[in-house]
Amino acid sequence: MNKKYQIASIPGDGIGKEVIPECEKVLHALSAQNKNIEFNFEHFDWGGDYYRKHGVMMPEDGLDPLRSKDAILFGSAGDPKIPDHITLWGLRLKICQGFDQYANVRPTRILPGIQTPLRNCQPDQLDWVIVRENSEGEYSGLGGRAHQGHPIEVASDMSILTRVGVERVQRYAFRLAQSRPRKHITVITKSNAQRHAMVMWDEIAVQVAKEFPDVTWDKELVDAATARMVNHPESLDTIVATNLHADVLSDLAAALAGSLGIAPTGNIDPERRYPSMFEPIHGSAFDIMGKGLANPIGTFWSAVMMLDFLGEKDLGAKLMQAIEKVTANPKLHTRDLGGTAMMKDVTDAVIAEISK
Ligand code: ATP
Repeated sequence: MNKKYQIASIPGDGIGKEVIPECEKVLHALSAQNKNIEFNFEHFDWGGDYYRKHGVMMPEDGLDPLRSKDAILFGSAGDPKIPDHITLWGLRLKICQGFDQYANVRPTRILPGIQTPLRNCQPDQLDWVIVRENSEGEYSGLGGRAHQGHPIEVASDMSILTRVGVERVQRYAFRLAQSRPRKHITVITKSNAQRHAMVMWDEIAVQVAKEFPDVTWDKELVDAATARMVNHPESLDTIVATNLHADVLSDLAAALAGSLGIAPTGNIDPERRYPSMFEPIHGSAFDIMGKGLANPIGTFWSAVMMLDFLGEKDLGAKLMQAIEKVTANPKLHTRDLGGTAMMKDVTDAVIAEISK
């Protein structure tokens, strides 16, 4: 049976414009090997340049053409000449919130050939997946400013947790933990200092855990979790945390796995009411833009997540194997990994592996 996946391609800004076309090439190469699967990309030129022309990062009704897509492939949003809160809220968060992609999933592993800054960590001792609450919490968007520029100026960002929001993301994370060999989850909290919403978060974890008797779980304060990630990486497997906590922990995770350029993420609507969105975790990296230096592996790994989510597990596994063959060869390491390879060399090598 022939399957044609409709993918929205949103490169965004900076190196997003370089790594997304490379990823499309890789997906076309996969489909050339599997003739019954096709990818059809529709391109959207939203981001900083679009903002300069139109005053918005994406059109007001921009979600409409995305709605019918099977998935969204996203590059990055960020521009040194536009304030970060405008680029973030005007594009990436508009899509995440508009499509209620409430689970942000970030796998972390030390891929073959990649060096971790952790001196005593064997590659098989670090295999995590962080589930970040992606719709509320500290990044709810609620709050305001008044009396700007006056001594009595006031500003607030309100952190909101709802029972529905916490239950659904924790349930998703426990289910994910259940599907992994270790069947273990760590619930990150800060209920010692945040004594309302985080206490509810802890209580809900106790309730949700009862639905998963075969999953073991523990609780860790977010500050202690950073030390545990560094000192005892093997003690962690699946991790669930609020929006801000997981934001910080997952950048640490990416650094411990060798480079920001490798790490992937999926913004998932587990109920599949809307398309989910897959992207590398790095930003627009204007410092290396246009030089062909960007590491495209984070984007390729995001495509693996996309294929898995679409139910194309064999294709996902094939792409992941190709990625691992390429990272295992130091001659194919880009500058962020201490190598001299260019982005194109990495893409060509991945395509060559796929085509074997
Ligand atoms: P933004 O404001 O969009 O978040 P940023 O430049 O502040 O972007 P990142 O893009 O996340 O932050 O990256 C920080 C640094 O890491 C970059 O300056 C770049 O040198 C390096 N880096 C990030 N991603 C990659 C990549 N894919 N390949 C190579 N280097 C990268």
